[in-house]
Amino acid sequence: MTIFPTEKFKDLRTPFYYYDMSLLEETLAFIKRESQRYGFHIHYAVKANANDRILERICQYDFGVDCVSGNEMKKALELGFPPGGVVFAGVGKTDWEIEMGLENDIACFNVESLAELEVIHELARKVGKKARVALRINPNVNANTHHYITTGLDENKFGIGISELEKVVEEMRQMKYIQFQGMHFHIGSQITDLDNFKELCLRINELQEWFISRHLFPRLINVGGGFGVDYHDPDGMPIPDFYSYFKVFKDFLELKPDQELHFELGRSVVAQCGNLISRVLYVKEGVKKRFAILDAGMTDLIRPALYQASHKIENLADRDGEKVRYDVVGPICESSDSFGKALDLPEMKRGDLVAIRSAGAYGEVMVSHYNLRKEPGTYYSDTV
Ligand SMILES: *Cc1c(COP(=O)(O)O)cnc(C)c1O
Repeated sequence: MTIFPTEKFKDLRTPFYYYDMSLLEETLAFIKRESQRYGFHIHYAVKANANDRILERICQYDFGVDCVSGNEMKKALELGFPPGGVVFAGVGKTDWEIEMGLENDIACFNVESLAELEVIHELARKVGKKARVALRINPNVNANTHHYITTGLDENKFGIGISELEKVVEEMRQMKYIQFQGMHFHIGSQITDLDNFKELCLRINELQEWFISRHLFPRLINVGGGFGVDYHDPDGMPIPDFYSYFKVFKDFLELKPDQELHFELGRSVVAQCGNLISRVLYVKEGVKKRFAILDAGMTDLIRPALYQASHKIENLADRDGEKVRYDVVGPICESSDSFGKALDLPEMKRGDLVAIRSAGAYGEVMVSHYNLRKEPGTYYSDTV
């Protein structure tokens, strides 16, 4: 459970991100232990949080990385992640990004379309290398999550549809500079119902047979990420239940001998260790509502505005007495700049410190400068 050093926070300029490094450490150790139990391979999805200190810590656990841009790849390599653990996904890889991957001999390109496969083949031919690829297949599995973060349905832009697979595979066979590695999937994010992953496993089992009947052996299976966290009660189970998560794959995915299972975990690794700390600027008595206006807004944490996400809000002043109902909002000139409506919280006063919890994933990485705002600061529990 994260304990906030509020005394130390008093003189710091708000808003800022505060990372609980011991929680991160415990989470990483747990993931390592639970995945090693079955020999599973873990790649950290850099896009969830690309903060240097966090990446360095993750690197010490010998995880690989999942990158979705050339700059993520560049940063991960600079920080010491070995190229042999880099996988590269994304529907719109540019030529220079593909060239960077080839130059560094990364483990795998997760290919999202035939058009992309043709470009990778051409660029690989130019440098005389074989590009290792996995086909990102859209398994048409519903992740039952917010529609903006569902990625595995036929209507999504991601991956190769099952109806296209035959054609892609036949074309791929002709490509001398492509080395087929296996199948890649990523059905969505913030998935808390493990049945969705079970369904994915069953779909993969069928696809395995499909490939093998065509004399192509998927040496690796990469099931992506998507495991969710508890945004409502961040201290209830601060480390997601990776035991049950990995067990689903152990129980339902029929791995063949010599086949590797890979994961790309983002949110579940870093969400709970991050918090956005803000101050109450004003308490405004509206016509029908009472607003607590914070100095943090959607430029610091866009998830509520972008996906109607909700984060637990805690008044660190923690006053006694009856709770008061607030809409907690930011200062940005957009109505969607709201962190929560009709929340019953201990009374808020100007100057109170507020923690917006579970903000370690898709928080700091999405900071923008809209309204010409300054970036939030960053502090860590072990150095604050
Ligand atoms: C975003 C993403 C991930 C990580 O997703 P989380 O929900 O943060 O675990 C993994 N793989 C791919 C391809 C992604 O796009």
